[in-house]
Amino acid sequence: MDDLKDMDKAISRIEVALKKGEKRNPRQVDPETCTGCNMCLQTGCPAISLTPEGKARIDAVVCNGCPICQQVCKAGAIHEAT
Ligand code: SF4
Ligand code: SF4
Repeated sequence: MDDLKDMDKAISRIEVALKKGEKRNPRQVDPETCTGCNMCLQTGCPAISLTPEGKARIDAVVCNGCPICQQVCKAGAIHEAT
């Protein structure tokens, strides 16, 4: 239940960031660390998708660097793009 509440808050923050037009450095996924748990996908962020191997992938053009997905990723697989 707490996870669902946290996810609702995360989604609201993404929506606020998108409305404000905020743009920070995009995030990227380390496929070696990603467990494919889908938590980042459940934020509903349009920049995140799954690879055929079941790992998360972030489209750097769409990502505004908000960085909600990084905060929900318990595996620590999401980092600021270098
Ligand atoms: S939350 Fe992290 S571990 Fe889970 S799918 Fe996304 S990047 Fe991978
Ligand atoms: S930081 Fe993550 S949640 Fe935020 S826009 Fe980029 S991919 Fe989406």
